Amino acid sequence: MKISKYSIGTGDRFAHECKAQLEAVIKACEEGADISPVWNKSDREHQIIGTSPPDTKTAADQAVKDLNWEKPYFIDADHININNDDGFIESSNFFTLDVADYIAKTPEGDALEKFIENNKKFEGSLSIPDIEEELKIDKDMIRKIGEKFLFAVMEAGKIYRHIESKKGKDNFVTEVSMDESDQAQTPVEMLFILSMIAQEKIPVQTIAPKFTGRFNKGVDYEGSVEKFTQEFDQDLAVINFAVKEFGLPDNLKLSVHSGSDKFSIYGPISKTLKKYNAGVHLKTAGTTWLEELIGLAEAEGEGLKIAKEIYKQSLPRFDELCGPYATVIDIDKEKLPSPEEIDGWDGIKYGNALRHDQSCEEYNMHFRQLLHVSYKLAAEMGARFTDGLESCREQIAKNVTENLFDRHIKPLFID
Ligand SMILES: [Zn+2]
Repeated sequence: MKISKYSIGTGDRFAHECKAQLEAVIKACEEGADISPVWNKSDREHQIIGTSPPDTKTAADQAVKDLNWEKPYFIDADHININNDDGFIESSNFFTLDVADYIAKTPEGDALEKFIENNKKFEGSLSIPDIEEELKIDKDMIRKIGEKFLFAVMEAGKIYRHIESKKGKDNFVTEVSMDESDQAQTPVEMLFILSMIAQEKIPVQTIAPKFTGRFNKGVDYEGSVEKFTQEFDQDLAVINFAVKEFGLPDNLKLSVHSGSDKFSIYGPISKTLKKYNAGVHLKTAGTTWLEELIGLAEAEGEGLKIAKEIYKQSLPRFDELCGPYATVIDIDKEKLPSPEEIDGWDGIKYGNALRHDQSCEEYNMHFRQLLHVSYKLAAEMGARFTDGLESCREQIAKNVTENLFDRHIKPLFID
């Protein structure tokens, strides 16, 4: 099973938007961009919402059937590890092995020494096509990288073999992710991480490093666009080199996590992909649920009431809701609208404050980030919320499709 050159990972927290999301992908195909849809949902999301992995597949299958989608599509067991992968095995065909928690742990026995020995040939000056300056690599550097990443990649090997033993070889796509760590990985680290992955015989098709800069949930990239672009470019050069050098799958590509809403780097990413004729997986941060809120609000009546209530409930529960996402959000409490202010808003005003349109004066990134992490409150509302999703279907679907197509797919894959 092979993932195509371009793919987009779309979270769908409440499993009501697969069809609206697939509409955006179909529109992309009509405009010449061949993109595979990947529906991702992590264990954390399932637990908070009270769903299970088969629910994701059921919803995706239904959308695929309704819209006569005949090309490949994937169900991503997102950010799994050896302790929680079992529940995903049956219903997923894409597995994101998250080993960030195992970074900087010491491997057992002589694994580290063996790794250093195996990579001896890279000591000295290494020239990689498309990277201008030769990379200077010494034994000490290889040891440091081994100390940092070898245990984590060996752990990925364990998870991979566990899944393979259940699903059979070549029946699923494997991604290795390290994005939820505190330090960005350099292109040189990437080279040796790929060497480790090959040593573990993981047929990795997508790899998600932590890139330089901040990838906060649901808002634009923060950091040096220039530095990011250079790093992204070198990562692609390293991948090309590593595929040949280590015999990794030739469709290996980068996966950009929390990749939705990073409007300021879409141009550079798109340009760099073209330069290398490379593919990419863009994993969005599950912001489809914010489009549900916008649609509910714009429908006025009960929909707007639900949207306002969720926000008002989020304020006294700020710490509880933000806690699990503390490292990937930056909310200035002073800039959050008060409950009284919200009471005076109509649906248009609510939608304008929430929708990620930086040219709109009413857009409020603090309001947006808080709501992004507040989906637990919608889950607690239960049927009232999901009934709202149905009764305001038209407004919601329009926002979901437009967000995915106009603000994400178009600048990255079409323009
Ligand atoms: Zn991630």
